[in-house]
Amino acid sequence: MSDELEQADACWDCEVTIGQPCLDDCDVAPCLVTGLQRFSCMEDHDHGQYVFTGWRPMARECREFGWLIDVPTVGPMGDYNRFGLAIVRGEVQWDRAAQRWVKEATKRGML
Ligand SMILES: [Zn+2]
Ligand SMILES: [Zn+2]
Repeated sequence: MSDELEQADACWDCEVTIGQPCLDDCDVAPCLVTGLQRFSCMEDHDHGQYVFTGWRPMARECREFGWLIDVPTVGPMGDYNRFGLAIVRGEVQWDRAAQRWVKEATKRGML
């Protein structure tokens, strides 16, 4: 497993520790409204303040869903192309309350 799939003590980019909010220019922090990278979110809304959990957003979900690619010398990494496709197809949705991506089928099953 590469580092991004494991829980880390400090954020990969802004280096805050677990329980602390990521810094404004952090490229790991997701927008809490869309679930996509906050740094590149162009929406005119409050992106919320992401608190670092130790898990890399999307990487954790890639690991759970088994969407991994094997990178030589690095090991398995999240398959973000697969993830992007799943977002477009509506297979996964951002759960604002849980602050994570969920599979649409799973979500329906819980209702
Ligand atoms: Zn951060
Ligand atoms: Zn946003």
